Amino acid sequence: MQHIPEDYCADTMEHIRNRTTCEWCHHPKRPVMQRTKLCKHCNRIRLILNTLEERNRAFAEKHGGLTFTMQWEVDVQRAMVQSAQGEGKMYGRFYDEDLNDLKLEHEWRILSERYVGQDLFYGIVDALNASLGVNQRRYIFYLLSLLNREWMRKNRRSLAYGIVQQATLDKPPGPRPVVVGRIDYSTGKVERVSPAAGPPPSNEDKSQ
Ligand SMILES: [Zn+2]
Repeated sequence: MQHIPEDYCADTMEHIRNRTTCEWCHHPKRPVMQRTKLCKHCNRIRLILNTLEERNRAFAEKHGGLTFTMQWEVDVQRAMVQSAQGEGKMYGRFYDEDLNDLKLEHEWRILSERYVGQDLFYGIVDALNASLGVNQRRYIFYLLSLLNREWMRKNRRSLAYGIVQQATLDKPPGPRPVVVGRIDYSTGKVERVSPAAGPPPSNEDKSQ
């Protein structure tokens, strides 16, 4: 690979290594806000979570519990935090990794899955290791990761739905959560569901 010499790649890695990055996602290119130490993307997630938690806290204090939707919304927002931090864990320190295992191959494979819907690069790990030096591998990984990370950032909410859904499925069966009622969005009033009144409203009721 004469056109991307190993030295140039090593310098680029050094440059990235010395950058201050967002404390959650560690994106190498996104500016970090001084006070929160987060990038704009993560900070927006944080602010929405704060708003939802505050809303739920006030609501629970007043009404003694939350609606399913309120709980769901805050769960999803927390999962968005988890997903952003997961991005940081997955990509945060690629410049110190050897990338001679399946990680670089995997980056190619998920890229091809996401953009052309086919797994085009299964089994290329040996070829990558034979043809690229360690800093070249890091540099290529870095370029690919920018695409994959953009995809993750655009799809953060759907990724969070997946996390919450999986957590719900994995949970052992237990008592149903307490449902205090539902909000009538036209009036803003809460219609209480008294425990004595029987089971929570069915799906049909909720959609009305
Ligand atoms: Zn971030």
